[in-house]
Amino acid sequence: MNIIVTGGAGFIGSHLCDELIERGNQVICIDNFSSGDKKNVLHLLGNDNFKLVNHDITRTIEIKWPVDQIYHLASRASPVDYQKYPVETALANSVGTNNMIRLSMVKGAVMLFASSSEAYGEPKSHPQKESYWGNVNPVGIRSCYTESKRFGEALITAYHRKYGIKANIVRIFNTYGPRMRKDDGRVVSNFITSALRDEPLAVNGDGGQTRSFCYISDMVDGLIRVMGSSFTGPKNIGNPHEITILYLAKKIKQMIQSDSEITFNPMPEDDPTKRQPDISKTRRLTGWEPQVGLETGLKKTIEWFKKL
Ligand code: UDP
Repeated sequence: MNIIVTGGAGFIGSHLCDELIERGNQVICIDNFSSGDKKNVLHLLGNDNFKLVNHDITRTIEIKWPVDQIYHLASRASPVDYQKYPVETALANSVGTNNMIRLSMVKGAVMLFASSSEAYGEPKSHPQKESYWGNVNPVGIRSCYTESKRFGEALITAYHRKYGIKANIVRIFNTYGPRMRKDDGRVVSNFITSALRDEPLAVNGDGGQTRSFCYISDMVDGLIRVMGSSFTGPKNIGNPHEITILYLAKKIKQMIQSDSEITFNPMPEDDPTKRQPDISKTRRLTGWEPQVGLETGLKKTIEWFKKL
């Protein structure tokens, strides 16, 4: 198949490009390198099945090749990062999503939109099922991301109702692994980078807030399976193993045998206190289930960061 991956030079996108090529597809990677990095796809550049297009998806694009599928992943995704670029982030998920839907209609391609667990906001229902509507601050510091992901979902659903477009929505939960940017501000990359330098691991709040971390290979497998599934509303992809941020700090410190201290900073505004995916819908419809446990995934990630 001919497959577009927007955000294909990013952390998740580049691993997805690798796997799609490995499975014999032709991949067109569209990225403007705002948070993605050309280094993530350098190894694919000589491959006849890979094309790299430098383009900002908030501008329309014509693609001369046939296209069967579009994975629309392009957006900044780290809270620190998207708060620095709130307008660009909001537009990537709204205008950018509209452009990708239009392109999928022209090409007769099936589309997958990467939404986020952020769509649930500060959840009042736990773990989060897709049927939960969320609890989101529309004007808070995270809303450029959260509300634009929600709008992207609404837009796809509107096109689906009106024109019957073939599109899937995934809600991606926290994901980690090699090729995370060490300076993007997310917790796994921050803690590993600090622990490797014996610098303090700065926990926000008292560290009692929870997240559930999914290893990158499981995420990629989930995305490909959902792309091949029926169009039945949003599907969660994430690892349901929920831990506190303080536990994560201690675990990474212990695995690296670091002398780092653990310090505490004020809790950022609107930082969700808990998050865990209910994956029963995705499992039932696609057979997907995460395979990589936290310890194994962290070990691989730490090894990768050590080589930087
Ligand atoms: N966090 C932290 N220290 C850091 C970075 C993040 O304690 O250096 C916390 C953050 O406040 C949040 C959790 O770790 O509660 C996950 O943050 P991240 O930015 O990785 O992703 P989020 O799930 O918030 O989008």
